Amino acid sequence: MQIITSITDMQSHADSLRKAGKRIGFVPTMGFLHEGHLSLMRRARQENDVVAASIFVNPTQFGPKEDLDRYPRDAEGDRKKCESTGVDILFTPAAAEMYSERPSVFVNVEGISDILEGAIRPGHFRGVATVVAKLFNIVKPCKAYFGQKDFQQCAVIKRMVAGLNLDVEVIVLPTVREADGLAMSSRNSYLDTEQRRKSACLYRALTAGEELIKNGVREPETIKQKMRAVLVQEKGIEVDYVEVADPDRLTPLETAEGRMVLLVAARLGSTRLIDNLLIL
Ligand code: AMP
Repeated sequence: MQIITSITDMQSHADSLRKAGKRIGFVPTMGFLHEGHLSLMRRARQENDVVAASIFVNPTQFGPKEDLDRYPRDAEGDRKKCESTGVDILFTPAAAEMYSERPSVFVNVEGISDILEGAIRPGHFRGVATVVAKLFNIVKPCKAYFGQKDFQQCAVIKRMVAGLNLDVEVIVLPTVREADGLAMSSRNSYLDTEQRRKSACLYRALTAGEELIKNGVREPETIKQKMRAVLVQEKGIEVDYVEVADPDRLTPLETAEGRMVLLVAARLGSTRLIDNLLIL
């Protein structure tokens, strides 16, 4: 596995691979890798000639009071996981390589970036869209792999790719979960034992909502009330939002019919957790 930290080195390597007719599959991450990340890399391995992954804790997607400084890191462990999953190129730029001191160029996907996660984390999706656009221009992939775990992020990236006519196929893969249903996340490492036990209530809330829908309940308010009730059964859970939304636009549904996505965001102490369930 080749480790590249310079943008120009990565670009010229990608150019020569493309010239040789190789298809590059790309998995962008912020590191502290778990099975969710590895599932994306494995799929990329199956579908491409060359697999590139990036590890970059992107400062522009963190708010001023968020966890940028304490975001978990494990460079050596991540390197080994990438290598054993068949990654060919690991791109790990420093923040100063990716951004000037005062970056002035951003990608803003309007509307969808301002609701749900975007309403609670202003500027978050501008940071995400910007870094993903930059990474696409640096790694030059044919296909890029993202996890459904970050449902709104996937929607923002798909819109960006369509809106800017980026020549990349976006592939979204299912959420990988722990045995009790908790969606794997690097941030789960913040949870103490008691919080970890309680955190499974996000998935329980989603499946409780799904159950109501399967039983014919069509009133989003009833579904949301049930989801909230499941969440607050655990002491110490603070609900940021629960939503029954259109899976493409992420706007609230008036009737829970057809394709939809159930979304939850909640805090346990200082740890924020998000999850979702797609109902087809
Ligand atoms: P992150 O390192 O958290 O920025 O995540 C990098 C990529 O891995 C994103 O596309 C995430 O959606 C995806 N991802 C994170 N957690 C999971 C999971 N539990 N299952 C599947 N994909 C995931």
